[in-house]
Amino acid sequence: MMTDKAKRMPALFVGHGSPMNAIEDNTYTKGWEELARKFPKPEAVLAISAHWYTKGSRINDAVNPETIYDMYGFPEELYQVTYHAPGAPELAHLTKKLISRDVQIDNSWGIDHGTWSVLHKMYPAADIPVYQLSVDRNASAESHFQIGQEIRALREQGVLLLGSGNIVHNLSRISWGMAGGYPWADEFDHYIKEKISARQYQEVIQHQSAGVSADLAFVTPEHFYPLLYVLGASTPADKLTVVNDYRTLGSISMTCYLFT
Ligand code: ZN
Repeated sequence: MMTDKAKRMPALFVGHGSPMNAIEDNTYTKGWEELARKFPKPEAVLAISAHWYTKGSRINDAVNPETIYDMYGFPEELYQVTYHAPGAPELAHLTKKLISRDVQIDNSWGIDHGTWSVLHKMYPAADIPVYQLSVDRNASAESHFQIGQEIRALREQGVLLLGSGNIVHNLSRISWGMAGGYPWADEFDHYIKEKISARQYQEVIQHQSAGVSADLAFVTPEHFYPLLYVLGASTPADKLTVVNDYRTLGSISMTCYLFT
C-alpha cells in the first residue's frame, strides 16, 4: 500500500485543551490549521491520544473507526461533530510489529476527542486514514519514549505521528475565566520547552527535574505521555517549530511541538 515515494512526515505533539476547540475558531485552532499547512498531506495519521489510557498498549485496526464522544456535559453541538476518516489496518499491523512490547489489537475504542478535536481543524475533510495507539498506564516514562523511537520509521512511510495531550494539565487547579496560566504552569511549560529545544530529552522524561512546578503540572500523567512518543520519534536532524506557546484557564498548556 505504502510506496517508497511516500513523503517523510513529521512527529507532532498538540496541546488539545478543551474539547470545545473542535467547534470554536480561536487562537489555538488557528495554530493547528497553520501546522497542517507546514508539511504535505500525510498518507495516514497515527494518533497517540491522552484519552486512550489503557492497561498495556492497544492499537485499533478497524476499517472504519468510530467517532468516540468521551467527554461529558458539553453543548449538544459538540456531539454532532463526526470524524469518519477511514482506518489503516495494514499500518496498524506494521506498527504492532515495530513495537517490541506486546500490543493488543482493540477495536472497542475509536477516534476519541483528543484526536478528532484536533484533526477536525487540521484536516476537516476527514479523508486521511487515522488509527490510534493507546497510552499504556503501566508503562514507565522511559518506555513511552522508547515506543516513540520504535515507531519513528513510520514517518518514512508517509505517516504523521500525532501525540495529543497537554504538557500542563491539572483539572483540580483549573480557574475558569483565567486567560493565562499560573506562574508554576508557565514555569513548567517553559522548562519543558527549554529542554526540548536543547534536545535534552532525559530531563523531559524525568520531568520531576523541573522541581516544584512538576508536582503541580499534572496529577496523572496521561496528558503528558503522548509528548514522550513524539520526542522518541524525532531525530536530531529535525527542525523544531513551537506553536501555541500559551497557558489557559490557569492550569492547562496549549503548547505544540512540530518536528519536521
Ligand atoms: Zn484531554
